[in-house]
Amino acid sequence: MIVPHSLGHSESDKERRYHGIPASRGIVFGKAIVIHNDLISDYEEHIEISQIPHELERFAQAVEKSEQQFNHIINISKHEFPSMSHILETYSMILTDSFMHEAIRNKIQEGYTAENAIFHNFNAQKQFFLLAKDPVLSERAVDFDHVSSQLLSALRKRTISHKVDEQSIVISTSITPTDIMTFKQEQCKAFVTEIGGIASHASILARSISMTSVIGINDIVHKIKTGETIIVDGNDGIVIINPSTKTKHAYRKKTERESKHREELGLLAGMESLTKKGTHITIRANIDSIGDINEAIQYGAKGIGLLRTEFQIARYGRIPDEQSQFEWYASCAQKVYPESCTIRAFDIGSDKFAEGLPNEANPALGVRGIRYLLKRKDVFKTQMRAVLRASEAKNVKLMLPMITNVSEVIQARELMNECREELYAEGVKVDPFMPFGIMIETPAVGLEIRSYLKHCDFFSIGSNDLTQYLLAADRINEHVAELYDIFHPSVFRFIKNIVRTCTAAHKEISICGEIAGFPDATNQLIRMGIRHFSISPPLIPGIKSKIIGNERD
Ligand code: PEP
Ligand code: MG
Repeated sequence: MIVPHSLGHSESDKERRYHGIPASRGIVFGKAIVIHNDLISDYEEHIEISQIPHELERFAQAVEKSEQQFNHIINISKHEFPSMSHILETYSMILTDSFMHEAIRNKIQEGYTAENAIFHNFNAQKQFFLLAKDPVLSERAVDFDHVSSQLLSALRKRTISHKVDEQSIVISTSITPTDIMTFKQEQCKAFVTEIGGIASHASILARSISMTSVIGINDIVHKIKTGETIIVDGNDGIVIINPSTKTKHAYRKKTERESKHREELGLLAGMESLTKKGTHITIRANIDSIGDINEAIQYGAKGIGLLRTEFQIARYGRIPDEQSQFEWYASCAQKVYPESCTIRAFDIGSDKFAEGLPNEANPALGVRGIRYLLKRKDVFKTQMRAVLRASEAKNVKLMLPMITNVSEVIQARELMNECREELYAEGVKVDPFMPFGIMIETPAVGLEIRSYLKHCDFFSIGSNDLTQYLLAADRINEHVAELYDIFHPSVFRFIKNIVRTCTAAHKEISICGEIAGFPDATNQLIRMGIRHFSISPPLIPGIKSKIIGNERD
């Protein structure tokens, strides 16, 4: 249970300020809920005797839920990633160990919470293995950590869903896109973390759903207590604890000014996106969930430039079946019709929903995007069938992520043709010329772009990944956040060359990485020849106003 620490008047009631990285804009007032290391920090240790049956039930449910999750991953990884499924089988054995269950139940019967009983028993086992002389046995200690965090997070999900509300600001060591989606459902408006980078998928998701966030504040989970009043300033990356009356007043004024400015920008929605010289720039939207589409339309987006389909996996907790995917894609395409809807094949892996993937030392360089899809042709074909079925009205495009070789494009095209033939045989109508394109996210593609021209109908620059691979700086690692510079001259030079080649070949080239949503980059990108931007819906008015004010292109 999350219980606020008792907060008496003391030194700690004074206003305190911490500076971090502004990851998603907005100013939010609220009460802190602190989560440590993905575990619940502020759970009660003891319970009343009357609560024991309830606590035993919570434990049983957490075991059941964790077992289901382990089994799910074992099933999907059995064929492709046997080493992963062996590890999971070991976890599953630990999870269902009857001696461990008995010890945990005994501790709960003594009047401890399920969290406390799990933590102490697993920790005791872990220490026992750590002391072993045999290195094989001592390495087993880490397995106990994994299983106990799985159980604690199974408990946590239930607990948080009861406690987080529109007043809550989540303070956590780290956060996953799945957590963010849960928090959003609970109306939570902001979060603060110790780790993460501005181009991590968690930060991108936060920006696209307008959830304010500040990241990279060292040890923040120990600097704030659950229940304290805080202001999160996602514009300047500041977190203020126990703000004084003067600070609150100043921030209220700031929010009033901001909402007036937003209203003014909203008026731009109906205006044409033309530079002063008359160059037309298309602004499309990056969409992570169906809710984003209404917002995109409201802000005047001309279609969808990037539909991040992998976020559906987080929503369903599994890869959705063909029919559910078809319904979602068809509804997205219909909502923006006659504008186009670019559906990106699942970009699974790296920091996105890596369940069922091997445990990799460098997941950003491992099995992700097209690499995963070509290993799991069943998943890929199911998705392509759903996309093709949604293409009947001829405004759907298919785009592939994380390409590094022409052969991947050729194989994917062959699979798409197979799917199309299957659908024809079933009497299903599809767009016979559905445009087929790729993301340019790796230096390998950018340098060899000519070889891809004849295989692709369009291209989109994924500058988030391109930047991390060009600068050798992990986009989610806060220790290299300063090196991960989306304005680095190498990135701009690289993009310029790609745009020149594609434009000369009359192939559509757009940009859908975060750089496209930074007004400071707009003029330069237009000067390089980019005519199609795809950005988070809330950023559209700001970029449009920059385009309209552009004097020379
Ligand atoms: C990118 O890499 O720039 C991109 C748009 O894809 P994602 O952020 O989803 O990896
Ligand atoms: Mg990418």
